[in-house]
Amino acid sequence: MQEHPLLVSSILTHAAKHHRGSKLVSVDAAGAVTRSTYPAMAVRAAQLAHALARLGVRRGERVATLGWNTAPHMEVYYAASGMGAVLHTVNPRLFPDQIAYILNDAADVALFVDASLLPGLMALAERLPETLRVVVVMGEAPLPALRVPVVGYETLIAGEDTEYPWPLLDERAASALCYTSGTTGEPKGVLYSHRSTVLHAMAAVQPDVFALRALDVVMPVVPMFHVNAWGLPYAAPMTGASLVLPGPRLDPASLHALVEAEGVTFSAGVPTIWTGLLGWLRADPARRFTAPPRLVVGGTALPVAITAGFQKEYGVPILHAWGMTEISPLGSVNTRKAENAHWSDEEFLAYSRKQGRPQFGVDLRVLDAAGAPIAEDDLAFGELQVQGHWVASGYFNRPGDEAFTADGWMKTGDVVTVDALGSIEIVDRAKDVIKSGGEWISSITLENLALAHPDVQLAAVIPAHHPKWDERPLLLVVRKPGTTPDAASILSIYEGKVAKWWVPDGVEFVDSLPLTATGKLWKAEMKKQWKDFSFGS
Ligand code: ADP
Repeated sequence: MQEHPLLVSSILTHAAKHHRGSKLVSVDAAGAVTRSTYPAMAVRAAQLAHALARLGVRRGERVATLGWNTAPHMEVYYAASGMGAVLHTVNPRLFPDQIAYILNDAADVALFVDASLLPGLMALAERLPETLRVVVVMGEAPLPALRVPVVGYETLIAGEDTEYPWPLLDERAASALCYTSGTTGEPKGVLYSHRSTVLHAMAAVQPDVFALRALDVVMPVVPMFHVNAWGLPYAAPMTGASLVLPGPRLDPASLHALVEAEGVTFSAGVPTIWTGLLGWLRADPARRFTAPPRLVVGGTALPVAITAGFQKEYGVPILHAWGMTEISPLGSVNTRKAENAHWSDEEFLAYSRKQGRPQFGVDLRVLDAAGAPIAEDDLAFGELQVQGHWVASGYFNRPGDEAFTADGWMKTGDVVTVDALGSIEIVDRAKDVIKSGGEWISSITLENLALAHPDVQLAAVIPAHHPKWDERPLLLVVRKPGTTPDAASILSIYEGKVAKWWVPDGVEFVDSLPLTATGKLWKAEMKKQWKDFSFGS
């Protein structure tokens, strides 16, 4: 057999040659729509690669982006990786301190920034890395003065050669760098290779995963700075599917308008986005989909009520997927297989709360606190570990992180149950489970039950010190405005639903709970705030 390295550049070359009629629609921060094609994108990516080479960007050096889902951002994806540099996507919604940390940790040499994000960048002007040589502004804006030269994107690529001889790189070379969002600590970099990226995209398009085809019109709502928009910037052109890049306007009305106007057949995003869209649709009976798109949801657990609402009221099928930055991100999907093929839609709907099964290319194992495999009985839980073609073997710049085991697995930090069908269900994060007398209590289970109380707006369960049991659950509650439930009323919700020793030892009422930049409960901060709290002796 011939041997060709698996390279990111080959995806663009394929789409430009064999899918010339597919469309590329891009919406910028001001709402302006640009239309293009894969051949046109390939030309601009080639021009950009020449420009980067002219600026002295060398193989292995990091090219950062602070951008939305737009066509220029896609061009940087392919130009930087294609020429052998490393595309480094940065989440502009992180706290400024985190962005400064990430840029410096990556030692970026170039930074592409969306014009709408310049004010945020200026706040970091003094903390840009020493290594930085140029800032490129994507979109129209007056160019600011910085320590390094600042140039407009169009000026940068104008007049460059429209073909670039994409080098035959080692497929194991780095193509992209992405940092975890730091929900549970400092952001850590994950360096993807060309090989892992191409294999991940090939897996993502399969029928039981995203089921992408040339005829699809794909709209990634998940940001291109969030684990490469779950691989869609690679998976879509690989199949020849059209792409609709919605920019930063992700309100329900804008998304619905794009689906209708562009005939979007497939979209992906976190539950918050789809919960918002469902509420907006329900607010007016005239709001329907002419042709319902398929949705993929992941990032945090997906409430069954949302899946049911979309499916039953709007004919929109939802696929629940699990993943993380360290695994590119696809780990598991909840699609049917032989064992549950005969289930009714209603049965499968209830089951769709689970994160599902791994696709080929990823293997899972679940170990209990003592390191033994757990029973696949839907009850026992342990920490989920993964290995596979697109799973990290370590963090960038951090040798010997404890997340990686000596026998080649990565500890995900997610605590799961496994059922007889091999489907996982996340019950907590390892850092957040309450370790009571050597046994584990799921904080997420306790939080979800608390949320079922009619007067509870927000709930978090954190460990509090206990002299006998080490840790016992403490429930923090934000009451719904105008209500005054007491602790006993809230705790009564647990009766008969969890083992007695799971019931929190105390309830504290608070005005608000700290959230991370990605909107998840910020447990680390809560634990800091309550570190002196103890359940006495
Ligand atoms: P961070 O770890 O900083 O939040 P990631 O975006 O990598 O950044 O998040 C990965 C984590 O998100 C997973 O380890 C898991 O805890 C959670 N997650 C992802 N998908 C799901 C899902 N479908 N259901 C529940 N949790 C999920």
